[in-house]
Amino acid sequence: MYDRRKFLKLTAVTASLTAISKYAPAMPAIKAAAKNLPIVISTWDFGVAANKEAWKTLEKGGRALDAVEAGVKIPEADMNNHTVGRAGYPDRDGKVTLDACIMDEFGNCGSVAAMENIAHPISVARLVMEKTPHVMLVGDGATQFAVEQGFKKEKLLTPESYTAWQKWLKTAKYSPVLNIENKQHRPGSKYNHDTIGMLAIDAKGNISGACTTSGMAFKLHGRVGDSPIIGAGLYVDNEVGGATSTGVGEEVIRNVGSFLVVELMRQGYSPEDACKEAVNRIIKKKPETAKEIQVGFLAINKKGEYGAYAIQEGFSFAVCDEKQQDLLIPGKSFYKEKK
Ligand code: ASP
Repeated sequence: MYDRRKFLKLTAVTASLTAISKYAPAMPAIKAAAKNLPIVISTWDFGVAANKEAWKTLEKGGRALDAVEAGVKIPEADMNNHTVGRAGYPDRDGKVTLDACIMDEFGNCGSVAAMENIAHPISVARLVMEKTPHVMLVGDGATQFAVEQGFKKEKLLTPESYTAWQKWLKTAKYSPVLNIENKQHRPGSKYNHDTIGMLAIDAKGNISGACTTSGMAFKLHGRVGDSPIIGAGLYVDNEVGGATSTGVGEEVIRNVGSFLVVELMRQGYSPEDACKEAVNRIIKKKPETAKEIQVGFLAINKKGEYGAYAIQEGFSFAVCDEKQQDLLIPGKSFYKEKK
């Protein structure tokens, strides 16, 4: 049940922590005393298969960065997944434009946004990080860079996506609502959602994250959400932890959501409480909008503790470590608690 006193208490704690952090020297990094490493977590039900792929790298003692890239490539390649990668639904002009970013334990990051004709944006984002002095490439420039790096240029609009787009054109109504925004455009699909955000800690205790999406179905051409934006859709600080988000990206960008979650964990919040506070900020700023939309955050701290929180019920996240390979956990949410 939603507990107003608890909410107020949490708000008060945040206020005092914010006040302290204004004057105090940087808080010490959370000491790693994790027992459950390596570990990988990711958003939504398609995170289960993605985690399993990431685990292949982690169990061999591989690097978290390699694990998250390999992991999120699974939904990117999945022809039944119309919200991530290759089979993603197009924008209102019928163009499939993909967004992705990646961040490693050194604070290096790379991103591509509104990229067309390349099926694995996460791998292009990684090369932006590793092979260029830049963080972000967009549109034609991102595609051009990918081709120069040896990626195959291909048509991404599948017959199924084309049909869904044609159907949408009949009303051409774009109104992102709750969790079902994409579900209504993909009858028969087992996927209801959205972006995959993945966070992993490897056996050495290093953290990396990846986030990839086709964004909102039938969005305006050129629209970019939170997912490829470092600090919004993904943020990693190897001393503290990592966070990622899914849902209506505009609200996440407005609140620099993933960065906020990591900074709250630095101040001592648990991953779940940090996600909850980030959700509360979105609701507080735009209470009317928040009633109609979904945003979910997922976070892990340096100790391997994880948690999530969303505006609406229905958010889930997948966890994989040595003990459990295919755990899917329902995320807590503001509105479910309130009922
Ligand atoms: N966050 C993504 C975006 O706004 C979409 C989603 O996760 O549903 O592009």
